[in-house]
Amino acid sequence: MYSEINQYCQSRGVDLLVVSKMRSIEEVYSIYHQGQRQFAENRVQDLLSKKDQLPDDIQWHLIGTLQRNKVKWVAPFISLIHSIDDFKLWEEIHRQALMNKRIIPGLLQIKVAAEESKFGFSFDRLLQILEQDPWNLLSGVQIRGVMGMSSLTDDQNQIRNEFKTLKMYFERLKTQYFNYPEFSTLSMGMSGDYQIAIEEGSTLVRIGSKIFS
Ligand SMILES: *Cc1c(COP(=O)(O)O)cnc(C)c1O
Repeated sequence: MYSEINQYCQSRGVDLLVVSKMRSIEEVYSIYHQGQRQFAENRVQDLLSKKDQLPDDIQWHLIGTLQRNKVKWVAPFISLIHSIDDFKLWEEIHRQALMNKRIIPGLLQIKVAAEESKFGFSFDRLLQILEQDPWNLLSGVQIRGVMGMSSLTDDQNQIRNEFKTLKMYFERLKTQYFNYPEFSTLSMGMSGDYQIAIEEGSTLVRIGSKIFS
């Protein structure tokens, strides 16, 4: 399925991030050899282990909950952290970026799904932080956009509305707080909903199971 999905994304100008979590090194290699260079893991240990065993020209993204004490392990090389969902985590990424003399790109993860289980800032909480906390001093992190997940549901309308909401948050944050060209990534869409996500303005889809099946 990789080449079909890759073509679908390319023809729409959308970045394809292949989610390699729980896949073997051989499985990842088979996609790598088709030209894919952006891969994502959701656990730091798995990311480090895969990075060790795979070519150096892979750009690694982190998409799962990131504990503050693990930031130091990925800070030297990570391409994009999709899961900034807490101000203290944002501060720690800044600190580790300075120690590594680099700027780490990140996305603010925002909760738009109805379920309790989905991670991310509520939009209200995020606005509160942006108004009250000294986030603009965190020069080690460059916020590149937002990430979100839709609800696990068969209701296509609900999924579409959640993506519309995330897109609206993205535009509002860009206008009010992050008005620079690099704030340009709207990371939404997975195996089951990437077509809807692209229709609603996604610039980067994160696809795992559909590529490896
Ligand atoms: C696992 C995961 C994906 C990929 O999910 P698939 O349904 O396998 O495409 C995307 N984003 C996040 C945050 C994930 O944890």
